[in-house]
Amino acid sequence: MAQLMSAILGHSVQIENLKFAIAENKLPHALIFSGPQSIGKKKVATALAQILICEDKNKTDKKMSEACGVCGSCLRVEKNQSENLKIISPDGAAIKADQVRDILDYLSLSNFGKNRVIIFDQAHLMNPTAANMLLKTLEEPNPNVYFVLIGPEISNFMTTIKSRSQVIRFSALTTDQLQSIKPNLPVWAYSCARGQVTQLDQLTSDDGQKLREESLMILEHFWSDGEFLTSEDWKKSVKDRESARQILNMWTTMIRDVLVLKTSAQKFIMNLDQSVRLKKLFQISTEKISDFATALLQADRDLAGNGDTVLIFESLWVKYARS
Ligand SMILES: [Zn+2]
Repeated sequence: MAQLMSAILGHSVQIENLKFAIAENKLPHALIFSGPQSIGKKKVATALAQILICEDKNKTDKKMSEACGVCGSCLRVEKNQSENLKIISPDGAAIKADQVRDILDYLSLSNFGKNRVIIFDQAHLMNPTAANMLLKTLEEPNPNVYFVLIGPEISNFMTTIKSRSQVIRFSALTTDQLQSIKPNLPVWAYSCARGQVTQLDQLTSDDGQKLREESLMILEHFWSDGEFLTSEDWKKSVKDRESARQILNMWTTMIRDVLVLKTSAQKFIMNLDQSVRLKKLFQISTEKISDFATALLQADRDLAGNGDTVLIFESLWVKYARS
């Protein structure tokens, strides 16, 4: 048995606001949960569904904003077997019209006044046809139906969807919260994870640790080797776009650390275990390091687009590291 909401770490303001709205019988029928990936938005949405679907007959008005955690309905939500909760994820690269049509068909069947909750995960990937099909239902919702649309930045949602929904913004988790969710990992991993649980998993996996070491080696090589352009080793590592992005992502934290180490206390650095190697980059002027940090942001945007991955690293070298 479990009350899903009480097991969630962080997001207390958002949770209290949702509970208050339920207790006051003012919960909007269309909600957007926006914020960074992998911080627990879907967990909050599922826990919210459990509260709405709970059928504890002894509920007093006061208890409306809690799930009992033990009734059949609560248990089915927990096991993802509830007939009153549908979680829709992208089919391939998008949430498609067929998926929305299935949901509208499902909602057209009577449910004898019980609450139903529809969660669209990565709802910003809903294609325009699918979104347009959903608009009317969002506008005139059935009193027992609640939609939760989950996605990153609110700007990624279609305006027509936004204007019919109430937006609840979520923030990245703190280092302490990450530590409670996944204890006993290296300190650097918590600070480099940017408040995201999957990022923490990725960084501490065998592949993640290897990639981090590789990133630091390439960075050292980048700043010290006059023949960097003709060397082939690093090119193999950045050939794959996803690896190139991860390497660049690590570089961003490492370069930030070099700047921090130059200007303030060691305790603020993210890659604490690598401070000795990072200090070797001190010879580079603060101004150059700072410009390079800005250039990495642009390089990340280029990598996210169609830019040639090797060429992006080569131009960075030519611009910043060639003496
Ligand atoms: Zn219950």
